[in-house]
Amino acid sequence: MQQSMAQIVGFLAPLGIYFYIFLLNVLVPGRWVTGYATKTNSTEKLRYRLNGIQVLFIVVLTWSAVCYTGLLPWDWLYTYRWQGLAGAVIFGLIFSVVLVLPNAPVTKSFLADFYLGRLENPQLWGGRIDAKMWLYLVGAIMLQLNVLSFAMHHYILYGAQSSTGIFLATGLLTFFLIDYLTFEEVHLYTYDLFAERVGFKLGWGCIAFYPYFYAIPLWSTVALPYTHTPVPLLALSALVFFTGWCLSRGANLQKYFFKKDPNRVFLGITPEAIADGNKTLLVNGFWGHSRHINYLGEIVMATGVVLCVGHPLLLWPWLYPLYYVALLFPRQIDDDKRCALKYGPLWNEYLKRVPYRIIPYVY
Ligand code: NDP
Repeated sequence: MQQSMAQIVGFLAPLGIYFYIFLLNVLVPGRWVTGYATKTNSTEKLRYRLNGIQVLFIVVLTWSAVCYTGLLPWDWLYTYRWQGLAGAVIFGLIFSVVLVLPNAPVTKSFLADFYLGRLENPQLWGGRIDAKMWLYLVGAIMLQLNVLSFAMHHYILYGAQSSTGIFLATGLLTFFLIDYLTFEEVHLYTYDLFAERVGFKLGWGCIAFYPYFYAIPLWSTVALPYTHTPVPLLALSALVFFTGWCLSRGANLQKYFFKKDPNRVFLGITPEAIADGNKTLLVNGFWGHSRHINYLGEIVMATGVVLCVGHPLLLWPWLYPLYYVALLFPRQIDDDKRCALKYGPLWNEYLKRVPYRIIPYVY
């Protein structure tokens, strides 16, 4: 392929991949579930059709077939990462404009509407495609392809001299994505799904930011030589990651099961709740140590990935966990405000029972 032509294809690649994911999301068999968010001005819960994990495997297999047959090199997405990022940035912008502009204003500020969106839960064909779930799906799958391609670039460059830590970080990020799509239904019970609208933040965020920025620990290190990180240190880094995963996945699952069945025992933890006769809040297990221990888990997981890549003095990889701190600390404050409004005096009781926001005994 000519260089200029390859650059154009690199620019358009995310768009093509997202369209392929859209087709698979529509066509591949999925399971219908009832979510947690309700239809606008109604108490009726939205329905969703989920098949993310199947779509992920099909796209990765397709991509592997394309590379295996020699149509594209295994590290093609790395070679054209800047073009791909530019394409995703432009497509994300167009997507946000198309989803926001034709709809009725929600606030007086156009900028606020553009950033946060106007539609709450846009769906096609009665939930066969849900805009939010599709956005998270394209972000996750594009990130997966980038991560694999970046790791292959390292292998192509260094062969037998490759860093074990790069492959470990690739494995952990892959685990993070497979875990997310395995528990796709649990995601229906999260803030983005029931409290946010679809605008630039979510649309551009999932189309452009998520698949490229989350790859930054690898993006910034795969072209660097072997780090000689000792195996015990790599094992410790993986332990850090899985400790974070236990906190995050554990808290999210405990809340999910509690919302579905308030009496269900999870990991041997019998739910303990406070109630006002109308609403209930969990106060034990993961939710008894801090009010958002899942956020701490997310930050710890990201730290584990950075430790694996083996360049602790390089700033770029650290932007990944730092981004989580910048995202999740203000989000906890917003969520606290939202919950104080929703739960009233019950929330104050919860604050007394669980005084820590994110880090038990510290913050
Ligand atoms: P939570 O899953 O913590 O959800 C907060 C909501 O849960 C509250 O608004 C309230 O909603 C309910 N809630 C809070 N406390 C209690 C309680 N004690 N008992 C029962 N219900 C409670 O936060 P998010 O939705 O923000 O995050 C979900 C997950 O996604 C987290 O693990 C987070 O780290 C992760 N995440 C990952 C990102 C990534 O890029 N990888 C980005 C952002 C988040 P209500 O009462 O209305 O049910």
